[in-house]
Amino acid sequence: MARLVVSGFVEALEACLPSGRRPIGLHEPDFSGREWEYVKECLDTGWVSSAGRFVDRFESDLATYSGAPHVVATVNGTAALHTALMLAGVIPGDEVLVPALTFVATANAVAHCGAVPHFADSERETLGLDPDALEAHLAAIAVTREGRTTNSRTGARIRACVPMHTFGHPVRVERLLAVCAARGIEVVEDAAEAIGSFRAGRHAGTFGRCGILSFNGNKTVTTGGGGAILTADADLAARAKHLTTTARLPHRWEFIHDAVGYNYRMPNLNAALGVAQMEALPAMLARKRALADRLRSRLAGLPGVSFVDEPPSCRSNYWLNAVLLDPDSADLRDEVLAATADRGLMTRPCWTLMHRLPMYRACPRAALPVAEDLAARLVNLPSSASL
Ligand SMILES: *Cc1c(COP(=O)(O)O)cnc(C)c1O
Repeated sequence: MARLVVSGFVEALEACLPSGRRPIGLHEPDFSGREWEYVKECLDTGWVSSAGRFVDRFESDLATYSGAPHVVATVNGTAALHTALMLAGVIPGDEVLVPALTFVATANAVAHCGAVPHFADSERETLGLDPDALEAHLAAIAVTREGRTTNSRTGARIRACVPMHTFGHPVRVERLLAVCAARGIEVVEDAAEAIGSFRAGRHAGTFGRCGILSFNGNKTVTTGGGGAILTADADLAARAKHLTTTARLPHRWEFIHDAVGYNYRMPNLNAALGVAQMEALPAMLARKRALADRLRSRLAGLPGVSFVDEPPSCRSNYWLNAVLLDPDSADLRDEVLAATADRGLMTRPCWTLMHRLPMYRACPRAALPVAEDLAARLVNLPSSASL
């Protein structure tokens, strides 16, 4: 195998990107639609907070686009995932299966429920949870009786599983659903990175009991900060709306709350941005795909590196483009990061794996050979729609 030539890689990357403005970030927001107009309407009318026409409109735009019958907008993706996990029945002391290779919010939302993340391995093709490895891991450590699965090492109930669609590439969610269904484990999809990503024609986040999206500033669609819960379950959606709006019962003047609720509702000001962003989404996705196509073709001929492509039968939003260095070029990763940074091109390694973070070090986990290998060789590239 030929080794990567770092200078050749940097030249090829430069050739895919517009000349001029530097630095180029990893993922920058793109406000080329009616964002100003809609935000101004909030200010002019005084409807800036958690009621107003843009919140309902944003939810219905998301429902139409994703095909999810019910959508509940939240202050951020972590809050959406926290709520979704509570509604999936996760209670303190439970374990929840999550990929070790993910952004920390996936594990944090589990911890916010008082539950314990249980880390599982990923696969090369999707960068997401490997259903076959998960099935084998559960066969080795879990006992399922009357539809309830328990970790036989810790004694804890394994209540749910949170597959994550990494960088927008859809995970093999149908197979994960089958593995989990056989053991009475609920599936909540972390589709935070995956608005505009489809698997077999179906939008990410609409396969499990419910799914969540994020509209953080670095995501494909941004509301500054924001998130949403997607579900086909009308009752779950109603409970999500109730729990995220302080569990207040409808009444003309009394403040009556029937549970410990959360102030997780998305403000109208943020939703106004979201409505404009949804109008621009098809165009943004087309531009992101064109950039991915340029990167794939430019980088394909280089030794020591391969472009991370969308999995078979999937249409990815290419939220973050990525390359994998060949195993014998993996030692050049930091050189690549430094050489691109010197040119004002932001690149980034993958997240630190969850089981290496201090607060999650002692959590239960499967063998993680693929996640470890991917984390050592992966480099994210500039991916903004404006490029
Ligand atoms: C962005 C993200 C979230 C949610 O993040 P927020 O910043 O709270 O919106 C959750 N999981 C993953 C994998 C993410 O990338």
